[in-house]
Amino acid sequence: MTEAEVILVGAGPIGLELAVCLKHAGSDYVQLDAGQVGQTITWYPRQTRFFSGPDRIAIAGVPLNTVNQEKATGEEYLAYLRGVVQQFDLKVRTYEKVTRATHGVDGFEVQTPKDTYRGRHLVLAIGDMHAPRRLAIPGEDLPHVSHYFDEPHRYFQKRLLIVGGKNSAVEAAIRCARAGADVTLSYRKQHFDAGSVKYWLLPELESLIKTGRVTYHPRTTPVEIAEGRAVLGSVDDSTRSELAADFVLLLTGYLQDKTLFEQLGVELEGANASPVLEKETMQTSVPGLYVAGTAVAGTQERFRLFIENSHPHVTRIVRAITGQTPPPQLVNDAASRYNLAES
Ligand SMILES: Cc1cc2nc3c(=O)[nH]c(=O)nc-3n(C[C@H](O)[C@H](O)[C@H](O)COP(=O)(O)OP(=O)(O)OC[C@H]3O[C@@H](n4cnc5c(N)ncnc54)[C@H](O)[C@@H]3O)c2cc1C
Repeated sequence: MTEAEVILVGAGPIGLELAVCLKHAGSDYVQLDAGQVGQTITWYPRQTRFFSGPDRIAIAGVPLNTVNQEKATGEEYLAYLRGVVQQFDLKVRTYEKVTRATHGVDGFEVQTPKDTYRGRHLVLAIGDMHAPRRLAIPGEDLPHVSHYFDEPHRYFQKRLLIVGGKNSAVEAAIRCARAGADVTLSYRKQHFDAGSVKYWLLPELESLIKTGRVTYHPRTTPVEIAEGRAVLGSVDDSTRSELAADFVLLLTGYLQDKTLFEQLGVELEGANASPVLEKETMQTSVPGLYVAGTAVAGTQERFRLFIENSHPHVTRIVRAITGQTPPPQLVNDAASRYNLAES
């Protein structure tokens, strides 16, 4: 049994920024993560660049520089996060997934496969991308089908069906076509949403479609996958068409795991089932329980919460728990500098 004043779950960028500020305030806290620090970023496709500029995703006052002054890749950002952990000597208990969390009159009890933790305050900075959004169609779990795009080389000179129409699917289609794959893209809508796809990707995809380097099937969705082939169904009528596919990438978004919220009895609201919070403190309907980072948004249908507009959560939570306001040099002020939408 380990006791601490604050139990902090999650060591993504916002969990780490919180840890730095709790440590600075002299708080007795313990930090747990189900995987490695920055775990969510470890499964970005290789060499994928953030759409956010480096100054917006920097944390804890540590500058983020890239070798070519471009936006950081996932790999560069992970190296940066490791540096932050080392610089502030953060003791993150990695590979400890919280499987159960309860609360009583004197605080919280949290269980991992390795230990039980007790604390007066609990902060969930657990993100919102725990599992892929499944299509529930036959063949979805076959070995040549994946919900994650890791790198394009695997698909060189292969027939690849990509399903989806947002950043992940659009970027995968471009990169795999450029890497010599025979790409077919299926999307349930007619047009890609210019407001949510990285602005530099759309013209490139449209050009690849126009020149026949990507075959586009708008207003379709896969209804069945089998080895070497897939069946697309129209979203408008009962038309079906079969196509050859050596590999299938289902890039249709991610869901937040609500288990901890449910175990703790947190009130959730709206289509995203996001936790109801007191804005000044980020406290949930359960006293002493706070939520930070993209976890605040629930399952994001349309992304509105990112690293850059989550930094203010850090200040609010540290102030609520410790009574101290973190010094401005430790919390990224991108949200106010760029006048970002309310988080
Ligand atoms: C390809 C791609 C590109 C992206 N580009 C951008 C971008 O440009 N800008 C941007 O802001 N965002 C981007 N994102 C989203 C970005 O990953 C999130 O905004 C960011 O990671 C959120 O930080 P966070 O600290 O709130 O949560 P996360 O980074 O998701 O961290 C949550 C942590 O909690 C841990 N955890 C979860 N459940 C448990 C549990 N039960 N027990 C213990 N630990 C747990 C996880 O292992 C994880 O390490 C992108 C995502 C993808 C997939």
